[in-house]
Amino acid sequence: MKIYSKIMAAIIIGTMVFATGCASSKEPAAPATEKTAETEKTGEKEQLVMATNAAFPPYEYYEENKIVGIDAEIAEAIAEKLGMELVIEDMEFGSIITAVQGGKVDMGMAGMTVSEERLVNVDFSDTYATGYQVVIVKEGSAITAPDDLADKSIGVQESTTGDIYISNDYKDADIQRYNKGTEAIQALLQDKVDAVVIDREPAKVFVEQNEGLEILPTEYVVEEYAIALAKGNTELLDKINKALEELKADGTVQGILDKYISAE
Ligand code: GLN
Repeated sequence: MKIYSKIMAAIIIGTMVFATGCASSKEPAAPATEKTAETEKTGEKEQLVMATNAAFPPYEYYEENKIVGIDAEIAEAIAEKLGMELVIEDMEFGSIITAVQGGKVDMGMAGMTVSEERLVNVDFSDTYATGYQVVIVKEGSAITAPDDLADKSIGVQESTTGDIYISNDYKDADIQRYNKGTEAIQALLQDKVDAVVIDREPAKVFVEQNEGLEILPTEYVVEEYAIALAKGNTELLDKINKALEELKADGTVQGILDKYISAE
């Protein structure tokens, strides 16, 4: 009985969170009846399997047991346009390209930067957002600009562009690689590293969640985010680009970005 009521409470709270989430969205929530019909139909729909690393707020992160965020919502809108059912698979960031390359998933969407190195192994859709690599330090740090990193100890998220750029630019730096941005942040808080280089939006979330950290005002690198697809899968690439174009033109993409990223 006790367990049952706990489950009920969880369901009710879950529903409330979901409803609140919808209410803050700029799009009107679909009527409940339509949602049910949709869910029943999904069994017949072809799946669009997306690989991500859901530790990268506000692009992808967990809310209760659900992966939410900018990428999850844009992917959902794309799947809807394609008449497909979106399935999200959470994995380490460093495994996404391999999963896409090997056809284990249809696409990789993880605040992923288009880079020359990655273009050797995968194709990219048109871009849908701008990314910035920034430097996080403890407040009052002697590091005041990216160039100060040269001989320092720097925490990065393994296999990300932050890792790649730092490894190329600062050969004398002591680079510590972590699976998750939050692990790099913990290392910074414990003085195991002098700085963390990571994408700006998750950086803002991490700095907000932890006292005594700041983001350096000078950005380290500006980049573009896009969806990774298996090389030569032009059929899906064309469909995704067409959907993205429509979703950009009708303001859906901007609406999703604005919902998760507050104006400076
Ligand atoms: N934009 C960075 C990259 O593509 C980081 C992405 C991430 O950690 N999810 O490497």
